[in-house]
Amino acid sequence: MSADYDIIVIGAGPAGYVAAIRAAQLGMNTACIDRWLDADGKPALGGTCLNAGCIPSKALLESSEHYEQAAQHFAEHGIQVGKLGLDLATMHARKRGVVSRLTKGIETLFKSNNVTWLQGEGHLLGPGKVSYTAHGKQKARELSAEYVILATGSTPIDIGGAPLDGEHIVDSTGALAFDAVPARLAVIGAGVIGLELGSVWRRLGSEVVVLEAQERFLAMADGQVGKTALKLFTDQGLDIRLGCRVMSTRVAKSGVTLEYTDAKGTSRTTKADRVIVAVGRRPMSDSVCTNESGLLLDERGYVHVNEHCKTNLPGVYAIGDLVRGPMLAHKGSEEGIMVVEGIAGQGTEIDYNCIPSVIYTEPEIAWVGKTEEELKTAGEPYNKGVFPLAASGRAQARGETDGFVKMLASEETDRILGVHIVGPGASELIAEATIAMEFQASAEDLARTVFAHPTLSEAVHEAALAVEGRAIHIAQPKRR
Ligand code: FAD
Ligand code: NAD
Repeated sequence: MSADYDIIVIGAGPAGYVAAIRAAQLGMNTACIDRWLDADGKPALGGTCLNAGCIPSKALLESSEHYEQAAQHFAEHGIQVGKLGLDLATMHARKRGVVSRLTKGIETLFKSNNVTWLQGEGHLLGPGKVSYTAHGKQKARELSAEYVILATGSTPIDIGGAPLDGEHIVDSTGALAFDAVPARLAVIGAGVIGLELGSVWRRLGSEVVVLEAQERFLAMADGQVGKTALKLFTDQGLDIRLGCRVMSTRVAKSGVTLEYTDAKGTSRTTKADRVIVAVGRRPMSDSVCTNESGLLLDERGYVHVNEHCKTNLPGVYAIGDLVRGPMLAHKGSEEGIMVVEGIAGQGTEIDYNCIPSVIYTEPEIAWVGKTEEELKTAGEPYNKGVFPLAASGRAQARGETDGFVKMLASEETDRILGVHIVGPGASELIAEATIAMEFQASAEDLARTVFAHPTLSEAVHEAALAVEGRAIHIAQPKRR
């Protein structure tokens, strides 16, 4: 008997929905099961990224940045505004509109590609076997497919000392929907979410303290990036305290008291109206596989996969936040495409070294490839070119001169090994570096490329020139 579907995808986040669309494009009979319900209780596609992650956070980052520009920087441009006001309800409504247009867009794409959207819960029973319980139904149906792709994403990690209560102590989802600007906000974790959402609420008027367990700021980023960003964020008013461990929280009518130990081990307290817990996310493997499925997980609960995202079970794949690698939407999407094209007999691969990371603060932070620390540890000799944005004509015209572009290239071959950017538009600039690295370009290739003037991208050009000590718009010790 033939299977119900060629492919069943469980999870419709950026990993799962992209896999489903690509599978349908390739002519496979595809179903995608997803259990997400929006605030009105209606099924919505797009997973964490569209509904409670990338998109709503970027909508608020954009709105809050406009507010801060108007409050603090319009005057420098000779623009006078009257008394500035904040209509948070409208800001949230705009955010919901952005989310809704995009999630509905995926619905349309599913329809036009003939992807069957199954609204409810899915579980892997074993190779080619899935149970599906539609929303509102008690009874599960068993479905069969030649291939199953697991893409159930991740969920925030809790910490014992700060249990979520949905009002005073919240995770990122709660922090995207505060109904008022907290006068004082504490963020636990100075990672990507802590910095992005901490920035949103600081710009809108909160006094923000960020308690981070590690002693090194942005430990995953290049050291120079971390140091520069720490100074810039501190100057902006984020009170970032490193080496701090939250031991307990007490919620009262007057707010939350957080007890923590600082870097010296001294016990301290701080008070806040609201607390965001942003200490990382864990894979949602418990939500998708039954014990009997035989699916192998690693010690941290990620579904164990090889470089092609194959699990230990025949015909079963796992992608996105559910598996090793950075928890990034674009990483999951590319894995979805790789898996489906592999099933269709096309040999697609991902170079995991060429996945860009971006933190959407102001200035933005972005990088791809290796950091200086990683190259030093690996004993890989490199040349480095750094170009400060203060020397960029376009950055000066924009009035946004903080930051730099740093390029690291092999001392032996000149091949670009990593690019690290702090500065306006870093999220877009990093694409140039990513393309160059995918094409295995040398720093010289970029140095010989013509960039439009005046653009921020010229800073990438100058950093490439600086690798050989021949940047034009900064004084450099001459190498040749
Ligand atoms: P998800 O997007 O989590 O989707 C999984 C889907 O599976 C969900 O719809 C879930 O309901 C469904 N599901 C789970 N279990 C089941 C089940 N048993 N049956 C049926 N359905 C199930 N990444 C970026 O690259 N850029 C950003 O700017 C960015 N910003 C972020 C901001 C925030 C606040 C957060 C929280 C995350 C952000 N991320 C960002 C991370 C990004 O959201 C994730 O990496 C991405 O969503 C992972 O995609 P996924 O498809 O693997 O999982
Ligand atoms: P994260 O891993 O980026 O940062 C968590 C931070 O919390 C780390 O610095 C960690 O040292 C710290 N921490 C851990 N336990 C702690 C404790 N008990 N007390 C104090 N600090 C503690 O995780 P996140 O910010 O929660 O984000 C989750 C995932 O979502 C990340 O993997 C990230 O890639 C993804 N995300 C990406 C973007 C983006 O691409 N712009 C935006 C938001 C989220």
